[in-house]
Amino acid sequence: MEERNFVITGDIVHSKSPGELETLENGCLVCIGGKSAGLFPALPGEYRNLPQKDYGGKLVLPGLSDLHVHAPQFGFRALGMDLELLDWLNKNAFPEEAKFQDCEYAGLSYGMFVEALRRSPSCRAVIFATLHTPATVLLMEKLEEAGLVCFVGKLNMDRNCPPYLREESAAVSLSSTREWLEQSESKLKSANIRPILSPRFIPSCSDELLRGLAGLQKEYGRKRPLPLQSHLSENRQEIEWVKKLCPQSRTYAGAYSDFGLFGEAGPAIMAHCVWPEDEEIELIKKRGVFIAHCPQSNTNLSSGIAPVRRFLEAGLRLGLGTDVAGGVHLSVFRAMSDAIQVSKLRQALLAPEEKALGLEEAFYLGSAGGGAFFEQAGMGRSGSFDAGNDFDALVIDDMNPVSGLASPLHLSLRDRLERLVYLAADGNINAKYVRGLQVL
Ligand SMILES: [Zn+2]
Repeated sequence: MEERNFVITGDIVHSKSPGELETLENGCLVCIGGKSAGLFPALPGEYRNLPQKDYGGKLVLPGLSDLHVHAPQFGFRALGMDLELLDWLNKNAFPEEAKFQDCEYAGLSYGMFVEALRRSPSCRAVIFATLHTPATVLLMEKLEEAGLVCFVGKLNMDRNCPPYLREESAAVSLSSTREWLEQSESKLKSANIRPILSPRFIPSCSDELLRGLAGLQKEYGRKRPLPLQSHLSENRQEIEWVKKLCPQSRTYAGAYSDFGLFGEAGPAIMAHCVWPEDEEIELIKKRGVFIAHCPQSNTNLSSGIAPVRRFLEAGLRLGLGTDVAGGVHLSVFRAMSDAIQVSKLRQALLAPEEKALGLEEAFYLGSAGGGAFFEQAGMGRSGSFDAGNDFDALVIDDMNPVSGLASPLHLSLRDRLERLVYLAADGNINAKYVRGLQVL
């Protein structure tokens, strides 16, 4: 195995906190055993003999995390975008996901997704697959080969979905989930790819199935954390539907909690949270549940604008998701600018007291904010170059005339970051490291 000890020099930017960037022109980053030993204005003597990679004049950023993306939907992204969530699922998502019964099709589509993710600014991702075990294992193997760090979920869905994409019963869904968890254990060679339980959302899962999944999370979580992902309060019709399906629960988040799926038995991450009630925000905080904010998807599916400022002020933990194919762009840089832009609209049109996000905050959410989920779920801290973090890094040649980013102006490192975020020009990634290994 490669030793993963080296030094990178370049123009370094990372987040110290949601409001603060640290920038270092022509600085040094040291990687020891796949972890960051810190960033330095000049190389300390003790590291002088390490191999050096000179990225002078290029931007060096921490790897980003995509906290919510549907791999099987990659093929139809940017198609059929004129529907709201529930119709969109029936018309676009379900027929496409059904094709993953066929491993040959799954191999073709997942091959394209994994290659695009490898070339994207994300070093880490939290991914929904489909309900099919063989195709999900295939996706996990391809991601492992690409060197990325990911949680991947085989979906559970046993009601309110078409017969061609529905597990026969709660018992069948639970036993195939067990089989998939065992296969993930035996077939994967590295610790980079791990399973995450993935009930699609409450409307797709019977009470018996949801209770059974809470049992599985507890049982498998005894060895190491088994996280869980799902969707929460994305669309108003969906929320009304959940109220009818779970009349005993006070809120949508409360319904997950009543089934024991809201951080009780392991880390949990919920996408969207566009329409939270006050008591849901309190519950999210109390249980340490992560939020994946997906601004582009929430715009495309006319879902709404999540109150991110309120989440930050309440001290909730959150990061960004592209939510392909509700979102069409696989770039977390684009998710950052979308997050800023929708927050400006929210402040202007809906909630003047909720200050719009700034560049520093959006960059934090896409890097260190999202990276913190991996730490909570036992996969190492990432998203900044603080000493001890996994060494995930991007090198971007933004000043190259062919990059589409070059400018005759004299730009600070913060300026260069701002252009990268707003222009989402991530076709210019020159190198990408995950846990100290170069994957691009
Ligand atoms: Zn989703």
